[in-house]
Amino acid sequence: MSELKNEVCPFCKEKTLTLREETYNVPHFGKCFLMSMSCSSCSYNSSDVEAEEQKPPTRQTFTLENKKDLNVRVIKSSEATVKIPQLKMEVTPGVASSGYISNIEGVLLRFKKIIEKERDSTDDPEVKKHAKNLLKKLWKAELGEFPLKIIMEDQSGNSAIISDKTEVQKLK
Ligand SMILES: [Zn+2]
Repeated sequence: MSELKNEVCPFCKEKTLTLREETYNVPHFGKCFLMSMSCSSCSYNSSDVEAEEQKPPTRQTFTLENKKDLNVRVIKSSEATVKIPQLKMEVTPGVASSGYISNIEGVLLRFKKIIEKERDSTDDPEVKKHAKNLLKKLWKAELGEFPLKIIMEDQSGNSAIISDKTEVQKLK
């Protein structure tokens, strides 16, 4: 791991930014780098992941079927779109989008946080009810009660769901 401290923050311009780069060797994916920035003054932080070897743009489809599948390794770059069609949910790349190395459980946790935020910030009982239903479905899928399809698309080629079960299609 390499680390640079006291860099200039792009937001608050204070010299309180820390840059980190970590190298990972992921089986069936190869060497990749996790880069992150965090500022101790304005709490700005961002991260991204990049593969050492240039890879083609792909759509990767994985079906979560049991608890063991939660441990499947996921590499998601900031340019990836993650979709759960059964829940009509989608996370698209944007300014605040970050890359990470995690697993299926971690991907679902990020979706849960979005839903929980929605549930807690509304006064509309319908929206609250809908959010609660989504959380319940995610919870059941994690227990392996029904198969849940997770799709990840990345034009940069820097994303992957590392499993024999993953269907990989080339994107144009
Ligand atoms: Zn800052």
